[in-house]
This record gives sequence, structure tokens and C-alpha cells, in this order.
Amino acid sequence: MVFSQPSGRNKQSLFGTSDDRKKPMPTFRLQPKSPPPPSMPTADELLDTAKVVALGMHTRFRGVRVREALVFQGPAGWGEFAPFVEYDDAEAKLWLAAGIEAAYLGAPEPTRDSVRVNATVPAVPAADVAALIARYPGVDTVKVKVAEPGQSLDDDVARVAAARELVENVRIDANGGWTVPEAIEAIAAIGEVEYVEQPCRTAEELAEVRKAVSVPIAADESIRRSGDPMRVAQLGAADVAVLKVAPLGGMRALLNLAHTLPMDVVVSSALDTAVGIAAGVNAAAALPNLHRACGLGTGELFTRDVAPSFRIERGVVKPRRVEPGIDLPLASPERTQWWHDRLRRCHAELVRR
Ligand SMILES: [Mg+2]
Repeated sequence: MVFSQPSGRNKQSLFGTSDDRKKPMPTFRLQPKSPPPPSMPTADELLDTAKVVALGMHTRFRGVRVREALVFQGPAGWGEFAPFVEYDDAEAKLWLAAGIEAAYLGAPEPTRDSVRVNATVPAVPAADVAALIARYPGVDTVKVKVAEPGQSLDDDVARVAAARELVENVRIDANGGWTVPEAIEAIAAIGEVEYVEQPCRTAEELAEVRKAVSVPIAADESIRRSGDPMRVAQLGAADVAVLKVAPLGGMRALLNLAHTLPMDVVVSSALDTAVGIAAGVNAAAALPNLHRACGLGTGELFTRDVAPSFRIERGVVKPRRVEPGIDLPLASPERTQWWHDRLRRCHAELVRR
């Protein structure tokens, strides 16, 4: 991604419309083929304000109990760079583009002032479900993780049943953990749900499952990591698209994709800090159409965040500016260096693009 400052006032940028009255900020536009103008922040500028944090989590999630993230400040606010540690630079650079957009461009124009969110229940024992859901006041939708390695279908059925007792709308997320026959069997055992997210790994398998069952299918990894988000639509593989700001390269990239996909979208976070969640909330708040609860309540999974979590009230969160505090749980010097090096490599890839 390359930014440049357009010359006139109130110019329509390729990211959206700027409004001088509300934002006394320079506006930018995307010029993918031109050389980087001075307004693209350098890696040094980004690292000047960067803080690498290590946030503790209540429950193991994606196999981790500590979530590392790098946050930095620009003229429009704070941005986050926190691709999961196993992602390569080609994938991670999109996360950096998203962070730069948040810190240097700011949020797109909102169309709503609040966003309905869901509770998230990791692969915990059924007995722990109620306490987890209690952290999300007023939500009417719960996403339950299923197909966890080392657990059985009975565990999934019990966990979903426990959630159903408390909340009317339950969706499940298998993170690609089932084969096609396993997915069909599990969906039959679990019963009616709002949708089944990423039952299998590939978009082709999703399409197969979708033909075989009556519950709606949602695509997450098939959009976020496929390199070709439209393939899901071409294959008829899903009824719902789960979109995340950072892996897609920013709020405006998410809005553009939502506009193109012929299906419902849900905006979700990727275990983001409050800085990343803010970008997700801003993207969701800017969508012209949003019919389902969004997965933006994952700040509840941290024992401590970089800023106060988005408070969920009556099942919704409201867009707001996030300012990390000064007393942050910083990562070790070694891990901080690792993140700085990673940012530099990804920045070089972005500039080269
Ligand atoms: Mg998912």
C-alpha cells in the first residue's frame, strides 16, 4: 500500500471520502503503481512510537496463552501490527498495511453508531460456558468453538447445548477442523445453529458440506488466507463471509470486499488488542448493510489489554478512539527486537509492492 497526499480540499480518495470539517487531517489516496511519496511513513517513524506488548489470556486460544502485538501511533490515532507469529512476511505485510491505515488515515465514514457483537466461547468444558457468556452483557448471539484437537463430538454437543440454554442464537466455528463426512455428522449431532463457520479447510470442501446440510455455512479462513476471497463466492461455498480488518489489509479493503461479495458479512477480530478491535468496530460501523452480530468482543479473552476493552452494553459496542495507556505489559527485549525486525521486513515488502 502506498499513500500520497492529494492536492485539493475534500478530495474523494480511493479509500473513501474525507471531510475537512470533522477531520483536520491530510487526506490520502491509494496509488498502487507510483513510488512511495514522503507521506508513507518510514519503518523508523513507525518504530519511533512502537510498543510491543505481551497480553495474558484467560483461556488458551489458537494454542497461545500470551498474545504479542506491536502498536504504534500516527497522526490519525493508533495502529496495530500483530500477525500471528507463524505467518510469513507476505501474509503479515497486509496486517502492517491495516495498522498504517488506522494510524495515518483513520476510520472511514460511519453509517451507524453501534455494532451488535457476539460472545465467544473457546473449547472449554460445558460447565464453564455460563461464566464466559456472563462477560458479554446483553448479547443475543454466541459463537462456540468446536472441533478442537483432542476433544470429541460429545464435548462439542455439550458445549453448544450449554450455550443454547443461555442465548437464543448460537453459531459454531470449527476452524477447518473437520473432514467433509465429519462435518456432516457433527452438524447433524449439534442441530440447528445460526451458521457453521469454516467446517473444513478448503473452499471446495465448504461447498460440498453446504450442499449436504441445511444450516448456513460461513467462510473465514477460506477468505482470509486463500489469496482469493472471491473463490468462496464462485464456488457457492458459503452463505456468510467472516471478514477481518488486519488480514485483509485494512478497513477500506474490508469495505470494498464486503461490497463485492454476494453474501451477508460478519466483521470479526483476529485476537486483536483494543487498538485492532477499534479498527474492526470502525469498519463494521461503516458497512452499509450489517444483519448479524460481529465477533468484536474478543477483548474479553485478555486478562489485560493495551487500553480498556470495548465495553459491551446491551449486546453492542460503540466506535471510539483508543489510546493505549503508559503502563503497558511490555514484551521482553528479545521479543521486542523480533517484532521490530518483522515490522521492518514487512514494511520493505509494502514499499516494494
Ligand atoms: Mg473463525
